Amino acid sequence: TPAADHVTALLASYQDFPETGILFRDLNPVFADAVAFRALIDELAGRFAGQFDAVAGIEARGFLLAAAVGYAAGASVLAVRKGGKLPGSVLSENYDLEYGSACLELEIGQLPEGSRVLVLDDVLATGGTIAATSRLVRRAGYRLTGVGVVLELTELLGRDRLGTTPLHTIVAL
Ligand code: 5GP
Repeated sequence: TPAADHVTALLASYQDFPETGILFRDLNPVFADAVAFRALIDELAGRFAGQFDAVAGIEARGFLLAAAVGYAAGASVLAVRKGGKLPGSVLSENYDLEYGSACLELEIGQLPEGSRVLVLDDVLATGGTIAATSRLVRRAGYRLTGVGVVLELTELLGRDRLGTTPLHTIVAL
């Protein structure tokens, strides 16, 4: 696809960031290219057109995607935040990282019960982040109708943790 061609051309890779042994994929050069960014948003919004009422972005790079797809589709936008940043009535999900653990949170009561939610993030690695977000969306009373990512790191098998939820990946490595 046009978006995939842009990602492949612009993606940067950093060995041993943020820790030794990790090959970090940096999508900021893709976001920084106006034509490439628009192609990403058009592909994600088009793939799930008519299938969502709201877009949930995962902190922090997922926010960039969710805001743009939400605007393009005329949909609501939800922010799934790292633990401890949201006020009020909040749902929390803890999950394991390669080292240690992490927490994601979602405020409740923002959308009508049963709203159809599309979850977006930049990279799907082990799938722990998307799996935790899926639990938050469901616990909040919404229907998870799709997951979209720019880049899927296939050897980490994150796809296997999503069950039957449709996953769209712009580029798989
Ligand atoms: P997972 O939970 O699937 O193992 O990791 C996915 C989360 O970690 C995403 O929120 C993603 O932003 C971040 N992440 C993991 N690996 C990379 C990477 O190589 N590059 C970038 N940009 N983010 C990564």
